[in-house]
Amino acid sequence: MAYDKNNIFAKILRGEIPSIKVYEDAHALAFMDINPAARGHTLVIPKVEAEDLFDLPAAAAAPFLLATQKVAKAVKAAVKAPGIMVSQHNGSEAGQTIFHVHFHIIPRWGGDHALHGKQADLKELEETAKLIRDQL
Ligand code: 5GP
Repeated sequence: MAYDKNNIFAKILRGEIPSIKVYEDAHALAFMDINPAARGHTLVIPKVEAEDLFDLPAAAAAPFLLATQKVAKAVKAAVKAPGIMVSQHNGSEAGQTIFHVHFHIIPRWGGDHALHGKQADLKELEETAKLIRDQL
């Protein structure tokens, strides 16, 4: 799918629709998520036309991650959260709804370990790891 210049985050970057900004530098913008999963839920986007992680140019990756780290630290301190989850979705099947790559910074207070499944069978893990290694 080609990058849609009219996605909501592209419009936010161009200032065509409002957002509640918390941080901006030459490479990234961070603003409050309109439907927060927790108090302090913040989004960080790079200032490049990249639909998802796979589309992100190498030169844009480091500044994007550094901005995310900086903002995550600030969110953690601001809402006094003991934990911070950083998530990122690629493709609608993974939960992506806005097709401009972004990190979610979501404060966590414990009690929800949705990402943890049951302990896997080690043989199955080895087989899957091999499939991944074969692609690298
Ligand atoms: P995704 O599901 O693509 O990973 O995340 C998109 C996020 O953007 C969602 O958490 C959603 O609440 C947020 N969002 C959608 N529209 C807007 C908007 O117009 N402004 C802001 N600030 N956030 C938005």
